Amino acid sequence: MHVLDRLEARACPVCGRSADDARSFLEDSIDPAELTGFSYASRKTPEYMSFRLVTCVSCRTVFAVTAPPAEALTQAYREAAYDSSEEARLAADTYVAALAAPLASLTMRQRALEIGAGTGVFLSRLTGAGFADVVGVEPSRAAIEAAEPLIRPMLREGVFVEGDFEPGSFDLICCFQTMEHVSAPRALAESCRRLLRPGGLLSLVTHDYRAPINRLLGRRSPIIDVAHLQLYCRSSLTELLRLVGLELIDIRSIKNTYPLDYWVRLSPLPRPLKARLQAALSVTGAGAWKLGVGVGNLMTVGRKPADVGLRAPGG
Ligand SMILES: [Zn+2]
Repeated sequence: MHVLDRLEARACPVCGRSADDARSFLEDSIDPAELTGFSYASRKTPEYMSFRLVTCVSCRTVFAVTAPPAEALTQAYREAAYDSSEEARLAADTYVAALAAPLASLTMRQRALEIGAGTGVFLSRLTGAGFADVVGVEPSRAAIEAAEPLIRPMLREGVFVEGDFEPGSFDLICCFQTMEHVSAPRALAESCRRLLRPGGLLSLVTHDYRAPINRLLGRRSPIIDVAHLQLYCRSSLTELLRLVGLELIDIRSIKNTYPLDYWVRLSPLPRPLKARLQAALSVTGAGAWKLGVGVGNLMTVGRKPADVGLRAPGG
């Protein structure tokens, strides 16, 4: 079965408001023939395809008005090719630096969970930051197979299921570049709140569709992607945390440091020009030069209030 065979209509995946009065953000642009094994892989070459996107008038989340059902997505991510080891290491460095200040406020560093852990590179950073018990959930079999032998035991293959973990047991839950991909991001954030101990932190890294670079690039921004079912901005993330009963303690733009050839791959240049430039970078070795660029990514950190169990449902 093709991932696009059956699509379901959606309301706003953050606040639940109907798509009926949402404002148009982008018309759909999907060519099923262009979908490949890499379409649901991380850090691929952009295809600039997307479902029809609208902006929620209540919470400002941009969302696809139709999307594949959750089971079809699970299948697509399980089978997704994986091609991002070097980039994953560099991204982990970026995230660990951005998390330093919020982590300083954590009194306990016992258990940490990463949802969408890829090859588990960030898990080793968490161990390095003092977390004793670290687990990552990752649906892509190829990503798990590419994990280093020491990291692999920390990875669980499959999509995240709240019931696999003990409520109130994590000091930190991380979900990086994943909230765009899931069918029900609010339900995921609610699960995270229940799995956190009081005082525990949820850290999200997402794209910011309102960041200047993404507004400038428009349809040619890498955030326009068939695998992205919703896109966030500061106000939609603030609302998401409020709705699930987490206190917002930090929201900031982060700069990603990647080699020059990675930036060229992501750039909105025409494909033939991009290929020539990539070849030149490869021959000269300049492709390996590292460059930190603010590409419109946000890190958002929320804390589970100490008394949340007394008032929030399921808390
Ligand atoms: Zn909304």
